[in-house]
Amino acid sequence: MERSKRCIVIGAGHAGAQFALSLRQEGWAGKIIVIGDEVRLPYHRPPLSKSVLAGEKSAEDILIRPSAVYEKADIAFRLATRVESIDREKRQVALDSGERLDYDRLALMTGSRARRVALPGADLAGIHYLRSITDVAQIKKDVVADRPAVIVGGGYIGLETAAVLRRAGMQVTVVELMERVLQRVTAAALSAFYQRVHTEEGVKILCNTGVEAFVGSGHVSEVLCSDGSRLPAELVIIGIGIVPNVELAAAAGLKVDNGILVDEFARSSDHNIVSAGDCTRHYNRLYERWIRLESVQNASDQARIAAMTLCGKEKPYEALPWFWSDQYDLKLQIAGLSQGYDELITRGDKDSGRSLAAFYLKGGVIIAVDAINRPTEFMLGKRLIMNKAKVDKDKLADASVPIKALLE
Ligand code: FAD
Repeated sequence: MERSKRCIVIGAGHAGAQFALSLRQEGWAGKIIVIGDEVRLPYHRPPLSKSVLAGEKSAEDILIRPSAVYEKADIAFRLATRVESIDREKRQVALDSGERLDYDRLALMTGSRARRVALPGADLAGIHYLRSITDVAQIKKDVVADRPAVIVGGGYIGLETAAVLRRAGMQVTVVELMERVLQRVTAAALSAFYQRVHTEEGVKILCNTGVEAFVGSGHVSEVLCSDGSRLPAELVIIGIGIVPNVELAAAAGLKVDNGILVDEFARSSDHNIVSAGDCTRHYNRLYERWIRLESVQNASDQARIAAMTLCGKEKPYEALPWFWSDQYDLKLQIAGLSQGYDELITRGDKDSGRSLAAFYLKGGVIIAVDAINRPTEFMLGKRLIMNKAKVDKDKLADASVPIKALLE
């Protein structure tokens, strides 16, 4: 590999960090420059709505790698710097400083941003989104025990923050537009499980409820709901999903459709440009459809594939998707994608207690598992999914039968 070649990485998040390190490991001898618009070195985002919000971890604790690791790998960072445009003909990127940098290969690791609402009062103080460490620092200023907080959106981020705020002593209400929490991502049994636990913990959950406006003078004091009710609120967190950062790619003429379109080798429609993570949509071999994933697993695994591609070691991306969520003492681990399932089998008692596993089947084959405080079911579930295993459903449903027996 030529030493004079330069790879520019846009985005210093999970995918950007993994890509840069993997690129060096795979034998890229040239320069690697990572450009990121945040001020910090890449950090883990999942703890933001969990241990960082709870005050158990600091910004330093969640760095993906210490700076020494990047120095050793001769990876340069340009932080607090935004790439404004890409000129594919000249192979140049333009920075917000006005500077232009040449590249031989480019990696688009631009991630995603929080979806925002355009409602009256949405810019009042006390109303927050949660995507970055800076957001958490702002939110923490409004966390006060016994005061009312409203979470807009009953997805993972909404429920995780609800759990943390509740443990911090706030009076928490979750407002969800759909008929159940986690509707987009889990089966009704899992939604009911989470709704029950949150209610037991003292969180109020309002489903089938929209938000019409935020009220307050300077700082938010109330949330107006679609049913006419008014919820007192001194802290609001809006967690209604993300939007992939595809504008740079689209403006540069790359193919974009709900994500930067990449092939199984993480190549964009310009083969000098790879892309990975939240900002991409790829054809998934395992699930035989185009998907856009929003997870650390996808950002890291796809970034490794992108690095191999640029080093001429093409390997298709076919990792099993997995994800996790921590709420109170509940550790949820998810493997596979459940969309399109035709049968659900649960192990454990969904109406009481703090542990449950749900297996999603299609045509008798396990395609996904959600395991709450059941790490064995998660581990073995992964193997059953990868093996496209047909299992004895009665045994699967019977929590007294060791899950390992199903592998035989
Ligand atoms: P990002 O981490 O978003 O990084 C992209 C970076 O690129 C950002 O820093 C962005 O500012 C920067 N950037 C964008 N455009 C430009 C530009 N033009 N110039 C310079 N820089 C630019 N996933 C899980 O698997 N499990 C969890 O429990 C979990 N919890 C989460 C909790 C929270 C609060 C959040 C916000 C996310 C969570 N996720 C979780 C999702 C996970 O963090 C993301 O899937 C992951 O961060 C994606 O990595 P990425 O590198 O693709 O994007």
